[in-house]
Amino acid sequence: MRAEFTQGELVELLGREDFAPIYAQADQVRAEAVGDTVHIRALLEISNHCRRVCAYCGLRSPRTDLPRYRMTPEEIVSAACEAHAVGYRTIVLQSGEDPWFTPKILGELVGEIKARTGMAVTLGCGEMPREDYAYLRQAGTDRYLLKHETADPDLYRRLHPDSTLEQRVACLRTLKELGYETGSGFMVGLPGQTLDTLARDLLLLASIPCDMAGIGPFLPHPDTPLRDGTPGDPELTRRCVALARLLLPTANLPATTALTVRGDNGQVFSGGANVVMRKITPNSYKRMYEIYPAQLPDTDIPAQRAQLEEQIRNLGRVPL
Ligand code: SF4
Repeated sequence: MRAEFTQGELVELLGREDFAPIYAQADQVRAEAVGDTVHIRALLEISNHCRRVCAYCGLRSPRTDLPRYRMTPEEIVSAACEAHAVGYRTIVLQSGEDPWFTPKILGELVGEIKARTGMAVTLGCGEMPREDYAYLRQAGTDRYLLKHETADPDLYRRLHPDSTLEQRVACLRTLKELGYETGSGFMVGLPGQTLDTLARDLLLLASIPCDMAGIGPFLPHPDTPLRDGTPGDPELTRRCVALARLLLPTANLPATTALTVRGDNGQVFSGGANVVMRKITPNSYKRMYEIYPAQLPDTDIPAQRAQLEEQIRNLGRVPL
């Protein structure tokens, strides 16, 4: 059932005038492979400290004007318990690359959350040495998110002058080897990107192969070097999600927040998506965690969970 495409075929598909048949095919593959469930994940942004300099990101370390925060372990566990109480079954702990959160501290957090709630725990805390990923896996971490952002090595280097695509991909392969459900993903509309790049992005997801893939439009942040960029096209983003579904039938493919910011009101769910993440970060921290400008509403964990469940039911799908 898993489709195989060449880079050239993907470029041709992405540029098609009429993409409706591909959306229909992606929807059918989604229904057969993962059913009608839409998984709602709680996303908790535990620290906005970051040592990296990614050119598109509002949290990059050169930003000295941004107030920085770290949630305490007590705050993190408390937010996780609150999310569990209103129905969440997975929590994603996300941060910049913040050495304060050592593997030991993260491992203890994962253990505590799992012991108190039984939730699946996903980490998205950046690149680490193999032994740290191994330690966190042993500590009970179920999944790890590490987007590759672009599969063009030159563009990757321009966006991440402190790292290489090779290193990123090596981390993803390590995570996979260690038995994590492994998530990557990329941005659509990055300056200098072409359809060819997107085809390579999709083939990279398939080659890992990823269990999750977050595909969202590029959104320029005003306090970054890419401030004058053009926001990514939501239609092209949805096309990438649909093709990711054909390449990875059983993957978890979220409707990314960035896509919602670009005006998607759930259309992506009829073209392959089956996951949505909702930020549960406390309001006092939420405004300080803007990788891209989003102007999201204040956090209200129970109300927003209920609202999301209703929206999913209105799409004819089943929230979980
Ligand atoms: S994208 Fe991630 S690693 Fe890069 S600067 Fe932002 S928070 Fe740090």
